[in-house]
Amino acid sequence: MNRINRLNQRLANQIAAGEVVERPASVIKELLENSLDAGASRLDIDVEQGGVKLMRVKDNGVGIHKDDLALALSRHATSKIADLEDLENIASLGFRGEALASICSVSRLAMLSRAETAEESGGWKVATEGQDMEAKLAPVAHLQGTSVEVRDLFFNTPARKKFLKTEKTEFARIDEVVKRIALSRFDVQFTLQHNQRTIHKLLATTSEQERQRRVALVCGPAFMENSVSVDMEGPGLRLWGWVSLPTFSRSQADLQYFYVNGRIIRDKLVTHAVKQAYRDVLFHGRHPAYVLYLELAPSAVDVNVHPAKHEVRFRDSRLVHDFLFSALHKALAEVSPADRLPAQQAAMLSDVAAEDGQSVYSQGQNSQSSLTLAEFSRASYSSNGASRSFDRNQVQQQLAAIASLHGDNTEVPPLGYAIAQLHGIYILAQNSAGLIIVDMHAAHERITYERMKLACQNEELKMQPLLVPLSIAVSQAEADCAEAQQQVLLGFGIELERVAEEAIVVRQIPSILRDSNVEQMVRDVLSDVLEYGSSDRIQAHQDELLSTMACHGSVRANRHLTIPEMNALLRDMEATERSGQCNHGRPTWVYQSLLELDKLFLRGQ
Ligand code: ADP
Ligand code: MG
Repeated sequence: MNRINRLNQRLANQIAAGEVVERPASVIKELLENSLDAGASRLDIDVEQGGVKLMRVKDNGVGIHKDDLALALSRHATSKIADLEDLENIASLGFRGEALASICSVSRLAMLSRAETAEESGGWKVATEGQDMEAKLAPVAHLQGTSVEVRDLFFNTPARKKFLKTEKTEFARIDEVVKRIALSRFDVQFTLQHNQRTIHKLLATTSEQERQRRVALVCGPAFMENSVSVDMEGPGLRLWGWVSLPTFSRSQADLQYFYVNGRIIRDKLVTHAVKQAYRDVLFHGRHPAYVLYLELAPSAVDVNVHPAKHEVRFRDSRLVHDFLFSALHKALAEVSPADRLPAQQAAMLSDVAAEDGQSVYSQGQNSQSSLTLAEFSRASYSSNGASRSFDRNQVQQQLAAIASLHGDNTEVPPLGYAIAQLHGIYILAQNSAGLIIVDMHAAHERITYERMKLACQNEELKMQPLLVPLSIAVSQAEADCAEAQQQVLLGFGIELERVAEEAIVVRQIPSILRDSNVEQMVRDVLSDVLEYGSSDRIQAHQDELLSTMACHGSVRANRHLTIPEMNALLRDMEATERSGQCNHGRPTWVYQSLLELDKLFLRGQ
C-alpha cells in the first residue's frame, strides 16, 4: 500500500465532476440554473460544435461581487444556503456549490460579471489556472449580469471526451435542456444559437395565449392542439399544465415534462400516477404526452437526493400520488368531443362569418373549368371555390333545420348528425365543419362500460331475469370459482348458481347487457374471475371486469342501426366521459374537416 496523500484541488474537483458534468448538456443545465437563481429575465445561450468547443451563457441577473468571483469557482461555495434549516426549505435551483468548480476542472472556463451593487462602472473577469485552480482576476467591460464561457470541455480528461457522441447528438441534448428550462420559466426570454445560427428565440410571455404559443414552439403545435389544460388544487398542492388527449399518444415517453416547484424532475411516483390516470383510456404500450407543474411547500419535498438534482423525494408521497392521479383522471374523464375538434374548425367557421361569403377558398375558382358556376351551385355539397362559402351557409341552414327537428334549437352538436352507416361498422355523420366517422362498436362499448362503472359505484346496477335460465357447461375449476364468488358476481349484476360438478345456471344479468351473448359474456367473466382468484383482487380489477362485460353488451358489427339510433349513439358519446377512446384505448371517432377534404381533392391549390 502507498502512503496517503491529499489530492490536488483540480483532481478532487474532476472526481466530483463525474457526477455533475456528464456531457455538454449538463453544463448548460447548471449554467442556466445559476442564471435563473440570479434572477435573470433574459438568457442568451451560444454554442459551438455541439458545446464541445464553446458554451456561453449570458444573463442579466444580479451579478457576482468582485470579491466573490474567485470563490464562486471553488467547491462547496454557495450563496444559496447557509445552514441546515435552509437546506430543508430550498427555493433555488442550485444549493450544492459544486457546479462551477466541477465545470472549471474539466474545461477552460471564464466568468465575467458585474454586480448590481458594484460601485465601479465596468465588470470583472475570472479564470482559473494550473492544478490548484488558482483564480486570476482582471477588469473587463460588462453590463450588469454574468457571462460564463466554457471552452474545450474535457480537454484534460481524454477518457471522458471519448464518451461524447457526434456534434449533432450533443447539440440535440443541449436543445432538450434549453427546452425543458424554457418551459419552466415563461417569464424569461431565451435565445439559443448553434454555430452562429439562431435555433430558438422565445420571448418572455405574459398572457395565457403567449404561454400556449411557447408550449407549441417547444413541444410542437400538434401537442397543443391535442391536449387539454389542467389546473387543480389539493391540500397544499396545485397541479397545472397540459396533458395530451389519449388519442395523441406516442410510441415513446419522449414528450413528458414534469416540474416540481419549477424544477424539472423524472420520478417513478409521478410516472406511475400519470400512467394510472391514463390506464383506462390509453392504447396498450403507448405513452401520454404532458407538460405539468406541481407546486407545493418547499419543505414538503426533498431535492437533495441526486447530484444533478433530477430526482426528488416527497415527504408525503401517498398524498402526492393520489392527488396527481385523481386530478389527471378527472381531467381526462372530462374530455368531450367538443374539446377534440381541432381549433382549425373554429377558425374556419369564423372565417366564413367574417368574410361574409368570400372565404379563403375563392382562389380555386377556375380549377375545374369544365363545369359552370351554376352547375356547381346547384350541387350543394360539391361546390367549387367561388360558391363554397355560400353553400356552406346553406349547409349550416340545413344542419340547423335538422337540429330543430331533433328538438335541439341551439347549435349543431359537436359530433353532428348521422347520414349513413358504412359496411355495418362505421357511422358517417356531418357536423358544422366536416365529416365525423364513428366506430360504432368501439363507441358503444365505451358508453356501456362507463354506465356500468357508474351504476356499480352507486350500487344501482339493474338486473334483468333471463326468460329461460341459461345452463352452461364449465370446467370444475370454473364451477368451484363461480360457487365461491357467487356474491361478488351478484355485485356485478350476474346471478348464477352451480347446479352440478361441471355446470352452472345463469338466472339474471345486468339489463344494460340484455342484447349480449350471455353465454360468451359469462364465460369471459368467469375466466377473468378465475385468474384474479380472491374476492379482493376481483374488486381491485373491477374496471377490467366491467370492461370485459361491456364488450359483450355492445353493438356488434353488421348490425343495422336506424338514423335515429345512430343519432342517439352520437348524443350518448357527447355525454359520456372518456368517450373518445374505446375500453382498449383505440379512438372511437375521427374527424375530417372540409379543409382536409379539400386538400385531398387538391382544391384551392
Ligand atoms: P450553487 O448554484 O449550487 O450555489 P454553483 O457552483 O453553481 O453552486 O455556483 C456558485 C455560486 O456562484 C452561486 O451560489 C452563486 O452565488 C454564484 N453564481 C454562479 N452563477 C451565477 C450567475 N449567473 N449569476 C450570479 N451568481 C452566480
Ligand atoms: Mg449552480
